[in-house]
Amino acid sequence: MDLIRIRNVEKKYKNGVTAIYDLSLAIEKGAFVFVIGGSGSGKSTLIKMLYREEKPTQGQIIVGGLDVAKLKNKKVYKLRRKLGIVFQDYRLLMKQTVYENVAFALEVIGAPKDEIRQKVLKALEDVGLKNKIHNYPEQLSGGEQQRVAIARAIVNDPKLLLCDEPTGNLDPEKSMEIMQVLDDINKNRGTTIIMATHDKEIVNRMKKQVITLKDGHLVNFKKKGTYNNEAV
Ligand code: ADP
Repeated sequence: MDLIRIRNVEKKYKNGVTAIYDLSLAIEKGAFVFVIGGSGSGKSTLIKMLYREEKPTQGQIIVGGLDVAKLKNKKVYKLRRKLGIVFQDYRLLMKQTVYENVAFALEVIGAPKDEIRQKVLKALEDVGLKNKIHNYPEQLSGGEQQRVAIARAIVNDPKLLLCDEPTGNLDPEKSMEIMQVLDDINKNRGTTIIMATHDKEIVNRMKKQVITLKDGHLVNFKKKGTYNNEAV
C-alpha cells in the first residue's frame, strides 16, 4: 500500500524559480527513503510540500489518503497529526526540559497526563535518552539534542517521519548514531521515513531506497540505492 502518491507535481515559487517539475512517484507504507541531490535540487521543497508548508503549483500530492494541496488551512492539522518533522537545527524549546519538549506536542492536543507520560518515556527510550529527561537542551550534545527532536517527532506515533538534513550539523560518528535511531524507529514502529540529505557516506552505508533529484526533477528512484554521481 502506498502512503504517498505524487502525480505530475510542479512547484514554482513567486520569484519565478521552478524548484520542482514533472515529479511523479509513490512511496509505500513502512519504506525508508533518502532524497538526495545537490544544493538547490529541490529536496527541501519536496519535503515542505509533504507537510503543506508549501503548496504545489500543479499536480497532486496524496499523503495517507489526504489530498494535501486541496486541504483547507483549517484542516491542515489533520495532515500534521499524521506526521513528525525533524530539522537540521533541532528547534527545541531551550527553556524547557527534555521531558517538556517531547510532551508539548501531546499537551496541545489535550492528551491525558498518564498517556502523555507513558508516550514521552517510550519515545525517549527509543532514542536512548531516558536518563536525561530532566536536562535542558543546552546541557546536551548536538547529537543528543537531535535525538530529543526525534523523540518529539515520533511521540504521537505518526505514520510518516520527515527529516530535512537531520545530520547536517553533526560529525560522522554522531550522524551514524542518529541513523541507527532512525533505522530502529522505521523497523520497530513501522514508521515511514523520508530523509533529505547530501551525506554520501550515510546513503551508501544504510542501503535504503534513494530518490535522486537534479535541478528540480527526478533522475532516479532506486529501491536499494547508493549515492550516485548524477546527483552532484
Ligand atoms: P535543496 O533543499 O535541494 O537545497 P530547495 O528546495 O531548498 O533545494 O531549493 C530548490 C530551488 O528553489 C532553489 O533554486 C532555491 O533557490 C529555490 N527556492 C527555495 N525556496 C524558495 C523560496 N521560498 N522562494 C523562492 N525560491 C526558493
